[in-house]
Amino acid sequence: MSADCIFCKIASGDIPSKKIYEDEDVIVFNDIHPIAPVHFLIVPKLHIESLLSCEGQHQTLLGRMLLLAPKLAKEQGLPGFRIMINTGHEGGQEVFHIHLHVFGGSVSLPKT
Ligand code: AMP
Ligand code: ZN
Repeated sequence: MSADCIFCKIASGDIPSKKIYEDEDVIVFNDIHPIAPVHFLIVPKLHIESLLSCEGQHQTLLGRMLLLAPKLAKEQGLPGFRIMINTGHEGGQEVFHIHLHVFGGSVSLPKT
């Protein structure tokens, strides 16, 4: 847990979210500013800054996050979806706790 991290605070329940899934390693909630009809974030409870900070030890966790996308998308009735992982300032990342965006429906991608 990182003291000033908004996603750590959501994972610990200190900040509310529109949660759609949780297990011991991952929390999933709707993005507060959706850019598609369905837009949720798959977030590990472990504070990892970004994909740039990931190493071999995170492989299982990353795989689990990726596999949650089709499972939850299907549960939400989506026939297909898009995934985005903004990485680093240059990659448009704003919250420095790794997360996977899942979009359903037409997406208006932000300009970076
Ligand atoms: P990025 O770091 O650019 O991949 O995006 C961070 C995302 O987190 C943005 O789409 C924000 O709308 C979203 N976000 C920031 N704060 C919250 C929050 N409290 N609850 C839900 N989503 C959030
Ligand atoms: Zn964090």
